[in-house]
Amino acid sequence: PFPAPWVFIRGVPSLKFLPPEGPPEVAFAGRSNVGKSSLINALVKTKGLARTSNTPGRTQELNYFVPDGHAGTRDDLPPLALVDMPGYGYAKAPKEKVDEWTRLVFDYLRGRSTLKRVYLLIDSRHGLKANDEEVMQLLDKAAVSYQVVLTKTDKIKEAGVPRLIEATLAGIRRHPAAFPEVIATSSERGLGIEELRAAIMKAISV
Ligand code: GDP
Repeated sequence: PFPAPWVFIRGVPSLKFLPPEGPPEVAFAGRSNVGKSSLINALVKTKGLARTSNTPGRTQELNYFVPDGHAGTRDDLPPLALVDMPGYGYAKAPKEKVDEWTRLVFDYLRGRSTLKRVYLLIDSRHGLKANDEEVMQLLDKAAVSYQVVLTKTDKIKEAGVPRLIEATLAGIRRHPAAFPEVIATSSERGLGIEELRAAIMKAISV
């Protein structure tokens, strides 16, 4: 079963602040405003865990969450950790912020042997954008397994969801590290959340 409740353990502004490699971890990435905080909060059944604020240019940190009640010592490692990656794609972000983001994220992706999968969140209303494509290339280059998760499906017509899934699958086909299945979710309606939990438990078990 998926653990709950969860706690925030640390914000990581640069790699030297990463916790030592321990439990398997999965990370969440997506454009600013994609609904990442809402999805994480729905997933962990812990209100307000991930901050749903979106101040552009706020500190770029990898935020670590673990199930509550684990000391994190060698004898009491949590079963998994969730990593909330800083959002990308904010139109007015200065180039050095973007470069900073890319460096932090790429170094993390490439070096983290306990990272089992990245969930790449895509807003159902927008589909895959150019900067999502760039991030997919980064993930391919780092050889990190990733899976696309559609967010806010309640914002589009129900009949459009299967079509969007097909279009998204077509968009990831040529990406070697992309998992060839897409999960459709709505944090607002609680759709696809249990499916995502099951996918995470499966991803960390391999
Ligand atoms: P983040 O910047 O990726 O962390 O995005 P947030 O979780 O803060 O969400 C951005 C905006 O989208 C907020 O106004 C949320 O209320 C809204 N939102 C998030 N998830 C959903 C959803 O599943 N359905 C709808 N309709 N709105 C959502």
